[in-house]
Amino acid sequence: MRLIRRSSLILLAICLASALAVFMVASRTATGIYMAEGRARAEALLGLTIQALDGHLRRFEVVPDLLADQERVLRLVQNPTDAARIEAMNLWLQARNAELDSSDIYIMTPDGVTIAASNHHRADSFIGQNFTYRPYFTAALAGQTGRFYAIGTTSGVRGYYFAAPILDENNATVGVVAVKIGLDVIEAEWRAQDAAIMVTDPEGIVFLASDSGLRYQGLLPLTPDRLARTAASRRYADVPVSEMAVTQADDLLTMDGHEYLTAQELMPRAGWTVHVLLDAAYLRAQARLAALAFLGAALAVVLLIWQRRARLTERLALQLQTKAELERRVAERTADLAQANALIETEIAERRLTEQELRRTQSDLVQAGKLAALGQMSAALSHEINQPLAAARNYADSAAILIDRGDGVRAKENVGQILSLIDRMAAIARHLRNVARKPDAPLQDIVLRDAVAEALALVAPRLLQVAVDLPDDLPPVRGGPVRLQQVLVNLLSNAADAMAESGALRIEVTGRRAAGRVLLTLRDYGPGVPAAIADRIFDPFFTTKSVGSGLGLGLSISYNIMKDFGGDLRVANHPEGGAVFTLDLQASVARQEAAE
Ligand code: ADP
Repeated sequence: MRLIRRSSLILLAICLASALAVFMVASRTATGIYMAEGRARAEALLGLTIQALDGHLRRFEVVPDLLADQERVLRLVQNPTDAARIEAMNLWLQARNAELDSSDIYIMTPDGVTIAASNHHRADSFIGQNFTYRPYFTAALAGQTGRFYAIGTTSGVRGYYFAAPILDENNATVGVVAVKIGLDVIEAEWRAQDAAIMVTDPEGIVFLASDSGLRYQGLLPLTPDRLARTAASRRYADVPVSEMAVTQADDLLTMDGHEYLTAQELMPRAGWTVHVLLDAAYLRAQARLAALAFLGAALAVVLLIWQRRARLTERLALQLQTKAELERRVAERTADLAQANALIETEIAERRLTEQELRRTQSDLVQAGKLAALGQMSAALSHEINQPLAAARNYADSAAILIDRGDGVRAKENVGQILSLIDRMAAIARHLRNVARKPDAPLQDIVLRDAVAEALALVAPRLLQVAVDLPDDLPPVRGGPVRLQQVLVNLLSNAADAMAESGALRIEVTGRRAAGRVLLTLRDYGPGVPAAIADRIFDPFFTTKSVGSGLGLGLSISYNIMKDFGGDLRVANHPEGGAVFTLDLQASVARQEAAE
């Protein structure tokens, strides 16, 4: 807990320090920018101020010269006591002064006494005043254009003085014309500016200023020399001049504890220096404000980024959580599946085991079946062979006795019986050979009508009624003629056997085509084949007949022969009684095509 508080305190300190550093750098940069901009503004304003001031002065610069050239002016200074001339001149000067919008116009004799003036009618008139102390007068008297800025010693009004010499025909200076102009209008214009403007005289004393409080203050140290020069010209009349605490470093001026950004330029003709002062503190405050705004913006950006990051982190955490949940579910499902899989595998294994057992049981059964068939066969064979053997032996014994008795005829009969018994046994052997043999005799086309007729001819003595229905267009079938006859005789004999008891002795033979095949059915009117033995009657050695009456090979051999023909042998019971054996045979392709 303490550790967290300490680390968050450190973080806060780092943040504050970073903010401070950003603010300092921004403030410094902004100050530089604002100062440069202020400097440019000050320079521009300075240019405009000088232009306006110069233009104003120029308007009046030539006025004294023009007046001095006037005939009447010369005549006046040549007759300084002519009251009528003075009176006329006063009025004329008053009119010119009004025209020019100047402050005062007046004429002086070479000894500095004013003899005529535009303000002749006023109480503070210049008439009779001596202005020899004014530098403009001395300059004009010396034949130059005099110019001077000062406070009127008589009027106490500030003004700029231009003076020109009045020359006689011999080019001698016989008087001086002076024009005083006011600069209050210009000063008033400056007040509308957002910068302080002031003009200093060659001694560094402010005499024009947008802020009246600055007037008559010395920007330069008021040395005795400067004070003496100022006093001699009575520039500022009786107004006291004071020194200001001023320090200047480059364009930064500190005045009365206030710092200003300044631009200054000398106006050589007037001998003035014009100063434009911009409040540096205001500029710095603006720069600080801008830096603060920047810091605010930077903080807002940082906060925004931080917020976005926080949101992103939150979203990521949520995603991770969802992923983990998903993975957990997948794992759960996988485990379930694995379990189910294991179960299935166990089941499969069990089934395999069961299957194996089944197979084993099946093969056991097959083995048992084979043994049973072998047993059946042995019983049948032993009976079939033992019986004729025993009979043959009896006949042989009797024949021996009859020969002894000399009864050759009866002995011969006995031998004949023995021979027939041997034939019977040979027939059994042939039967057995047929079962075992796999005939590979080639198949041929057989006309069913002929085959049926031949077979019926052999069995006919055992039957009473025979109905044959074989359509004329019935195609020949594929098979071996002798083997097919063997099958037919077999089936017909079985039918006769089955009907022997009931004595119905009727048989129906029907043939029909079915999709490339020929179906031949033999229906009898016997008891039919019981369902219990229907699927066993084609097995070898299966018989229901008493020993000695049948070997149980007939249907088995017939079935195999039909398979050899590419056909089939099926049994069913007729709904109205009696067995129906169907021979399914291949129709001859060539004949069938010819028929179609
Ligand atoms: P076998 O005639 O020597 O018994 P088969 O293989 O020819 O041998 O016949 C097997 C058995 O099928 C017969 O024992 C008999 O039970 C039965 N069977 C054959 N044909 C018919 C038939 N038409 N009607 C009833 N049962 C038949």
